[in-house]
Amino acid sequence: MENKKQDTASALKDIISHAKEYGFVFPSSEIYDGLQAVYDYGQNGVELKNNLKMVWWKAMTMLNDNVVGIDASIFMHPLTWKASGHVDSFNDPMIDNKDSKKRYRADTLLEDRAAQYEAEGQAEVGKALLQKMAKALDAGDLEAVRQIIIDENITCPVSNTANWTEVRQFNLMFSTQVGAVSEDASLIYLRPETAQGIFVNFLNVQKTGRMKVPFGIAQIGKAFRNEIVARNFIFRMREFEQMEMQFFVRPGTEMEWYAAWKEVRMKFHQAIGLPASKLKYHDHEKLAHYANAAVDIEYEFPFGFKEMEGIHSRTDFDLKAHQDLSRKKQQYFDPEINENYIPYVIETSVGADRLFLAILCNAYTEEIVGDGDQQKQRIYLNLHPAIAPIKVAVLPLVKKDGLAEKAQEINRSLKFAFNTTYDEGGAIGKRYTRQDLIGTPYCVVIDYQTMEDDTVTVRDRNTMSQERISIADLKEKLGYAVSMERIFEKLLV
Ligand code: ATP
Repeated sequence: MENKKQDTASALKDIISHAKEYGFVFPSSEIYDGLQAVYDYGQNGVELKNNLKMVWWKAMTMLNDNVVGIDASIFMHPLTWKASGHVDSFNDPMIDNKDSKKRYRADTLLEDRAAQYEAEGQAEVGKALLQKMAKALDAGDLEAVRQIIIDENITCPVSNTANWTEVRQFNLMFSTQVGAVSEDASLIYLRPETAQGIFVNFLNVQKTGRMKVPFGIAQIGKAFRNEIVARNFIFRMREFEQMEMQFFVRPGTEMEWYAAWKEVRMKFHQAIGLPASKLKYHDHEKLAHYANAAVDIEYEFPFGFKEMEGIHSRTDFDLKAHQDLSRKKQQYFDPEINENYIPYVIETSVGADRLFLAILCNAYTEEIVGDGDQQKQRIYLNLHPAIAPIKVAVLPLVKKDGLAEKAQEINRSLKFAFNTTYDEGGAIGKRYTRQDLIGTPYCVVIDYQTMEDDTVTVRDRNTMSQERISIADLKEKLGYAVSMERIFEKLLV
């Protein structure tokens, strides 16, 4: 067990250092020693993340005739957060260890213990523990939560003691002030989720787009949470990005739509390259105040199966709360049944950064190549070609005899179709390695034969095999191989 812990910790460490070394993710303001739980995306990271966002966006808005997108502001009227329940109950229970002075989320300590029971073959005990915790949290009985931690003999991993403070609730919203003069300034929040920007625009979109229920509104944007314990690299950050879609349905039909979206979203993760064996559903034991059903799609990160996406049946909670507080009707007239109602909502919500981390963990591959004395380790990122930061590297075998000029000409002809790079520096093997490390799926090599018959070799990142093809066919062949179309085709079957 101890060994396994070390293995998983070192697997994550390898991924974090790879991400930094090859321009994917940097600690924020690193020259000042960083800012905890805040990260910057580098030149390759931003391409990968943009591709993930684009494939999600298109899968939502392009493949579904009844889903459209919006881009709402980060700042919203403060009453938004009163209506949504965030002012009063967007809290996490926290507990401190008096000896180590380390702070923990009380619910996470108990969830980890339940997972441990499950790993030891005592799934029922783990489940009972989670139910007991959910009951205490629902009742707002924080003393009972603390008692469960004590009864379970949970100790702080740093001090190894069970010298715990009481459990307290901590609101996760960041606040700031708007207005130039301090007397006039009012308190506003950085949005903790993008969903509310969708709810307050429900009627705007429905009316201007003449949308008929069922329909969905998708949005990608930043969200901010003052997380108590931020850990596991970009898994839990204080500033992050969400990709959310709220699907408005006729009341009474929500469970069908909930089941349908559950399936669609699982398919999406597999289509972009995450293996089915590393994905699973996890039903919520404790439902949020707004939900009547909720499930997470979990991915097996190096630190275990953890939530990557949440799918919630949110009832009419949000629209109704906004209607009550704003005194503006949030109803839809359904011509098919001749009735006015507040639609029910199915939400799909995935963190762009968590998806990025899952993709990176899955792609990071170490393998031994060659035989005998020639054996060496090779590292490459096995990214789906459509989401790789760079699709094609164009490499002249040597710089002289017109090969470089020919390669540049080919690069120019490809670069407006997809992301390419041109590299003429160093031995060809080294140049392949550079591309493998950032996940470039294809290397096009211009050699002496190219000068005679206008053919090039195309090297495949995963198999390292090479195929000779004519320059005239390059754009079409590679274009399809690296296109998002290949992902969308899988989603439509
Ligand atoms: P958790 O239980 O991990 O705190 P949550 O259940 O509060 O997550 P939701 O409110 O359902 O998360 O948010 C939807 C999605 O947003 C999550 O599935 C996750 O992918 C992403 N997300 C939430 N909080 C963070 C964070 N602090 N950093 C990065 N991504 C996050």
